[in-house]
Amino acid sequence: MEEYRHFIERCQQLIGAEYVFISDEDKKPFLTDWSKRYTGNAIAVLRPKNTQEISELVSLCHERNIAIVPQGGNTGLCGGATPQDKGISVVISTSRLNQIREIDVDNATITLDAGVILAHAQEVALSAGKLFPLSLAAEGSCTIGGNLGTNAGGVQVLRYGNMRDLTLGIEVVTPTGSILNGLRGLRKDNTGYSLKDLYIGSEGTLGIITAATLKLYPLPQSKTSSLVAIKDIGCAIKLIHQARESCNADLTAFELISTRALTLDLDKVKNLGSILDTPSGWVVLLEFSSMENEQQSRNQLEAFLGKALELDLISDAVIASSIQQSGDLWSIREGIPEAQLKLGNIIKHDISLPISNIASFIEETEAKLKMLWPNMQTIIFGHVGDGNLHYNLAPLSPDLSKDIEERRSSINQLVHDQVYSYSGSFSAEHGIGQSKRDELPLRKGSIEIEIMRSIKKALDPKNLMNPGKVL
Ligand SMILES: Cc1cc2nc3c(=O)[nH]c(=O)nc-3n(C[C@H](O)[C@H](O)[C@H](O)COP(=O)(O)OP(=O)(O)OC[C@H]3O[C@@H](n4cnc5c(N)ncnc54)[C@H](O)[C@@H]3O)c2cc1C
Repeated sequence: MEEYRHFIERCQQLIGAEYVFISDEDKKPFLTDWSKRYTGNAIAVLRPKNTQEISELVSLCHERNIAIVPQGGNTGLCGGATPQDKGISVVISTSRLNQIREIDVDNATITLDAGVILAHAQEVALSAGKLFPLSLAAEGSCTIGGNLGTNAGGVQVLRYGNMRDLTLGIEVVTPTGSILNGLRGLRKDNTGYSLKDLYIGSEGTLGIITAATLKLYPLPQSKTSSLVAIKDIGCAIKLIHQARESCNADLTAFELISTRALTLDLDKVKNLGSILDTPSGWVVLLEFSSMENEQQSRNQLEAFLGKALELDLISDAVIASSIQQSGDLWSIREGIPEAQLKLGNIIKHDISLPISNIASFIEETEAKLKMLWPNMQTIIFGHVGDGNLHYNLAPLSPDLSKDIEERRSSINQLVHDQVYSYSGSFSAEHGIGQSKRDELPLRKGSIEIEIMRSIKKALDPKNLMNPGKVL
């Protein structure tokens, strides 16, 4: 530590001593990831307040060869924001970069700092009579910078797209400390390579995103949600087409949930009644947003569900009759990631597949997994409207946690082999981070990996930006 005394003093001069954490106690919350799977080390956690301060800190790190781990809300699920154990690094937290820079209602854009919490960005848009549609269960803690770093998805990708689709411009501090100002609010801009697209999803390995200009949308006048029991997974896919083709309202979310996942928190589902007993073991939580009033939307939803019953796609449905009830349905869905933790050691997969392959994938993979290790259960839920499944595996009882852990690599291999045999991806939303880094070269073509390595080398030749992540 002594050898870094001058570096720490310089950081203190640049951003103020109270924003340079060096004690173990102060650093602790920043050194372990949300799932508690990864813990690392850093000589300091730095909390600058604006782009200029980040630029100065990054220049200093570049000069002293000190690695940097960008961190937003630390809700990432792949260990991307956690420093490694080895090497000398600092965490740069964006928690103080929390200014809303501009709302341009006519251009339907918001420009804001990267440390703004997602839920706050949604609230600010709402107060201007607009919608910022990115929505995910960690929205109370995750940041715009983290959403960009991981190209976050969530429940409304079906209608509005993921973070990449919602972004018009970004500001970045490059690995040498220069400030790249690309905060343009343009929907058309064909002026060479799209650098913003390079940084989105780069998980802090190419620079620190310090601000962004994002798209806003008209605020729907009404939203209706329904939980429906489907006859089988194939019916879920037919139901998406039916919803898109037969309703004026926008289908804004379509979540497939196994009843096993749904009933993890029995308290939350006690009022759902017979829907939990659906013989197929599958339900769909869907949401329509509309520019029409509540009653018109509800009529449309009822007509849609009536038609789905007639077509024998669904067997039962609960319609939320108030905003409160709709919120309750969504809180069950959003509570699943936490609720499953009580099952013991969980092996998580965040996969995507062509929608047409989902039913066969689920059926075949479960059978193969049971042959590999009968003492496991699947916990499946996800944004099936865009082909994204959280395909998680838990032991049949928590005391078998050690046994499932011992099988982690063979289980991962089996699931990922299945994913690729069905033309899917083993990382749909959460990114690569540390958890999938070693497998990336095996799953992507060698040319793709070579190009990615060349880009990394060109932009960060000293490999100081989030080393050990992604590549
Ligand atoms: C309960 C729960 C539910 C979730 N649901 C979803 C979901 O539905 N969809 C989804 O996509 N994700 C989901 N996630 C994952 C996570 O919330 C997202 O990946 C989120 O975008 C991470 O934001 P963050 O601010 O917490 O980033 P962090 O965890 O702090 O960082 C994530 C990565 O981005 C990098 N990074 C952070 N800030 C910056 C920056 N300013 N510039 C450059 N790189 C940066 C980090 O280095 C790291 O590699 C969920 C997580 C939890 C805990």
